[in-house]
Amino acid sequence: MAIRNVVIIGSGCAGHTAALYTARAKLEPLVIEGHEPGGQLSLTTLVENFPGFPEGIQGPELIANMRRQAERFGAEYQLAHVTAANLSSSPFTLQVGRETIQTRTLIIASGASARWLGLPSEQALIGHGVSSCATCDGFFFSGKDIAVIGGGDSAMEEAIFLTRFATKVSLIHRRDEFRASKIMLERAQQHEKIKFITNAVVDEILDPSKKEVTALKLRDMKTGKSSELPVSAMFLGIGHIPNAKIFEGQLDMDQDGYLKTTNFVFTKVPGVYACGDVQDRRYRQAITAAGSGCMAALEVEKFLENGGTH
Ligand code: NAP
Repeated sequence: MAIRNVVIIGSGCAGHTAALYTARAKLEPLVIEGHEPGGQLSLTTLVENFPGFPEGIQGPELIANMRRQAERFGAEYQLAHVTAANLSSSPFTLQVGRETIQTRTLIIASGASARWLGLPSEQALIGHGVSSCATCDGFFFSGKDIAVIGGGDSAMEEAIFLTRFATKVSLIHRRDEFRASKIMLERAQQHEKIKFITNAVVDEILDPSKKEVTALKLRDMKTGKSSELPVSAMFLGIGHIPNAKIFEGQLDMDQDGYLKTTNFVFTKVPGVYACGDVQDRRYRQAITAAGSGCMAALEVEKFLENGGTH
């Protein structure tokens, strides 16, 4: 079996940037695209804070450009996901479907996936009015009342986006303080179609027996009082969970499952690097993910040049 120089897990900003750099270094990278090709940018709308685009750029367009750029220098992409990894000896072994891939170095850029509330009624209604992707599913609820859960930038962005379709968007947050940036929060607060419901949690989503969302059962965190909010859809914007489960026991993680790195991208296994949202719980921006993808790629190059040492 041919041994790869470098395999990159994940095809978001970090993965594409690592692919671009390692491809230009003639390392012939293989990118395993993962469950959510393109990562979070492929699920977003206008990106206004990625430098170089004064008018902003659509997330899917930005990510498609990054991929084309890496492919131009010979990066290879495989639409599959890694189900197991053995990092105990070099070359490292990855299980990708039925195929086994061996590689001298590994860049983990597997990102983070949407977090769910974890209610049985929520899980029963995913795809029937419950969604974590406003850009994917918002259109289906044109002319309807919609709820968005969360108090960060994702929730604000989703709420603002959904006003294109919804008659009214109720933004439900469990506190009355917000993690969202001031500019995004103000935009949502000033929007005539968005109504804020704070200090409230969702206890249940109605009605799984009808296979559609008809209302949310809310509980006021201060008074304990329950109420029903009639809506046709609920969108989650409550953060993400790092995609690092397959490395449990092999790489260090924090209490929430983010990979621990030193000097930005080094894991404890020489030749294995982590970049982007899977190891970044602090910044989590497209530009920082791209930057760390670049760092991981440069370290791979140095590691291989030095014959497998730092
Ligand atoms: P986040 O900032 O971690 O916010 C998650 C929100 O969900 C918080 O308000 C949190 O409430 C709430 N939450 C978490 N678990 C919950 C639960 N089980 N039930 C109810 N509410 C829950 O996540 P994010 O909004 O996805 O943003 C992540 C990063 O991406 C941030 O750095 C953000 O700036 C960035 N981002 C940027 C843009 C942009 O600039 N255009 C867009 C999207 C995201 P608490 O506050 O009470 O914990």
